[in-house]
Amino acid sequence: MNPSQPTVHDTRAGIGYDSHRFTPGGPLILAGTSIPVDFSLAGHSDGDAIAHAVTDAVLGAAALGDIGEMFPDSDDSLRGANSMEMLRAAVKRVHTAGFYVVNVDVVVITETPKIGPHRAAMRSSLAGALGIDPGAVNVKGKSNEGMGWIGRGEGLACLATVTVARNNQSVAME
Ligand code: MG
Repeated sequence: MNPSQPTVHDTRAGIGYDSHRFTPGGPLILAGTSIPVDFSLAGHSDGDAIAHAVTDAVLGAAALGDIGEMFPDSDDSLRGANSMEMLRAAVKRVHTAGFYVVNVDVVVITETPKIGPHRAAMRSSLAGALGIDPGAVNVKGKSNEGMGWIGRGEGLACLATVTVARNNQSVAME
């Protein structure tokens, strides 16, 4: 490559959303982190809503569909599955398409539990699955100010954005 030619980075953003109901019996699994409370997230897999939202954001950024296509609910082998393994599989697919993950930002909207005490563990766990530094992973908790189904403590929701990039061929400067 001619060093006078700039490298063009094909950079893309993806968004993911997920929500799950609370069900009696702990622990609660979020971002692969076990939180010692007496309720958990109902779901076909382990119900890890952060892992699901981040998986959708990773796949979305690379225009590779969504988690439901890659891991159908109808697949009995996924019952109780470890969702961080599903995220790792999605990241592998994105790597195969030539992209690497740049960063992730996550919002967990819930009245309980508090996310702050578990933030460091979640960042580390997500960083491992995404193949990036924990410094490129952010996780934050928000209450819903008591409003609606989240306010009544029926479940929680997560939003995630992920940026991916790949190096394109250099372009000639005029
Ligand atoms: Mg889900």
